[in-house]
Amino acid sequence: MIRASCHCGAVVIEADRRPSVVTSCNCSICRRYGARWAYYTRKSARIVRGAGRVKAYLWGDKTIEFYHCKACGSVTHYEGVEKNPDGRFAINSNCFAAEDLVDLRERRFDGADTWEYLD
Ligand SMILES: [Zn+2]
Repeated sequence: MIRASCHCGAVVIEADRRPSVVTSCNCSICRRYGARWAYYTRKSARIVRGAGRVKAYLWGDKTIEFYHCKACGSVTHYEGVEKNPDGRFAINSNCFAAEDLVDLRERRFDGADTWEYLD
């Protein structure tokens, strides 16, 4: 079990396990957010507090909802609009507790161009 929270604490997200790796992506939105994504499914991660305190941002083909806290602006997670239980639920690992960030392995993903990992 691991928990993530936005800066003001209004939004708390829980996942069933620590991530083995987090992904930093250079696509147009991820590089602006500076997020490092820990990938889960909607079955293995969930908002446990403040579900009404987040706002979604959609762009392009509008298939992914990027969420941030309405109060403090922290980017907390993204998920697919279809809300499939097996669909991706990606938590911004920078919202984990600081002690949970120690030793987290990071991979760089080229979402801007090749859709391959760069390492
Ligand atoms: Zn907040």
